[in-house]
Amino acid sequence: MSEIQNNEEEVKSKDYEDVCYICRRPESVTGPMIHIQGDICICSDCMQKTFDAMNSSGGMNLGDMFNMNIGKMPNISMINLADLQGAIPQSQKLKKKKPKEKKEAPVLDIHSIPAPHKIKASLDEYVVGQEHAKKVMSVAVYNHYKRVMSDDRDGVEIEKSNMLMIGPTGSGKTYLVKTLARLLDVPLAITDATSLTEAGYIGDDIESVVSKLLAAADNDVERAEHGIIFIDEIDKIAKKRNANQRDVSGESVQQGMLKLLEGAEIEVPVGASSKNAMVPMTTVDTRNILFICGGAFPDLDEIIKERLNKAASIGFKSDLKDKYDNDENLLCQVTVEDVRKFGMIPEFLGRLPILFSLEALTEDMLVKILSEPKNAILKQYQKLLAMDEVDLVFDEGALHAIARQAKEKKVGARALRAIIEEFMLDIMYEIPKDDNIGRVTITEDYVEKKGGPLIQMRGVASIEQSAGI
Ligand code: ADP
Repeated sequence: MSEIQNNEEEVKSKDYEDVCYICRRPESVTGPMIHIQGDICICSDCMQKTFDAMNSSGGMNLGDMFNMNIGKMPNISMINLADLQGAIPQSQKLKKKKPKEKKEAPVLDIHSIPAPHKIKASLDEYVVGQEHAKKVMSVAVYNHYKRVMSDDRDGVEIEKSNMLMIGPTGSGKTYLVKTLARLLDVPLAITDATSLTEAGYIGDDIESVVSKLLAAADNDVERAEHGIIFIDEIDKIAKKRNANQRDVSGESVQQGMLKLLEGAEIEVPVGASSKNAMVPMTTVDTRNILFICGGAFPDLDEIIKERLNKAASIGFKSDLKDKYDNDENLLCQVTVEDVRKFGMIPEFLGRLPILFSLEALTEDMLVKILSEPKNAILKQYQKLLAMDEVDLVFDEGALHAIARQAKEKKVGARALRAIIEEFMLDIMYEIPKDDNIGRVTITEDYVEKKGGPLIQMRGVASIEQSAGI
């Protein structure tokens, strides 16, 4: 008897929710359930369907039924499903999803609008180099949130500081935006411009970026309206040169984005990415959403070079034609005119008034990326090995060897992880075998596959181990 009571108590506990006996959907999805005999619950949809089926001439309505006492309903006797089954179903309850834990206070609070130097200092902890980009972004964000908080009753309306960020792949564009959003604790949606097409064509329509942001803000419209939307690979929607067909993924996407960038009320589905009859809609105002567009803009350097060469070849001071050929940071000299030549339409560029570029990562910057940021890759591996009580040490030479290899791959900092993962695999496989190992030193020779790492036993002098690992 007491066991049954316990069981009942457990079932009734707040952690569980009812599940419809017919469609098996939980109460959080279906809305309140109707409880019938034998601890069986049926959702109102299924109940309505049952009545519709029983009363195909359309006489009974669920609304009427709620006003009556179910047991005394005329001409209807409830079927006890438990009797039919011979047993009470076992799992009529489903464990509720735990609400998300409250996060700790954000590093920077947008309501008190942190000063640009504070924003930059926070970015410095995570992002190596890119001083110019960090400075421009900090000021732009500062002005943006000032604009959000200001009122325009005096007739002076501050213009939006949407940004266009140009930088080689793997130079930290996405990472900068992600870090910024995390520090400010604002929702962030990241989309790829390649998947966007004009509404009505196959692909995501442009407004889907706003519904992504709404989802990132846990469907809180007010929070979403202060969020950041990052549109990556923006160079892929450049105007197609010599296009004969309708350009549904290039120029028309730029056209379609204009009102979004400037500020418009957009109807977006809640909790889904596409509009259809079943999904409730809500309106999101994009006036205070910060848009950051980023792209690698391949061949933009050719356009810049052409412009610079033209300027340099005029007059007495004319320079050599190949002066800029090996300049990795040509992108830093970008102007709006260059981007327009690349294929972005002037109206689009006009709505992204802040244009800046990121530097290509040098070997020294890659070395710093390996070890300096708060969640640097090396720190992550050191933490993993520390759980086995093993010290992981990297030689200066090893760091440079990794950076050199990464630079050869020409995908920026993204190559680092793959290179380290390759040689760390053996270490992470072999080390836990032997409890006596106290320290592993990764040497330049090991990274370049010319030797092994230095293994140091606990309390014993170091020995080089080339066999095994
Ligand atoms: P992209 O410019 O192509 O968007 P990402 O931002 O995705 O490149 O960079 C890839 C990874 O490289 C990031 O996750 C980050 O860990 C690392 N990274 C790139 N640049 C930097 C940097 N300047 N400082 C620290 N980490 C960086």
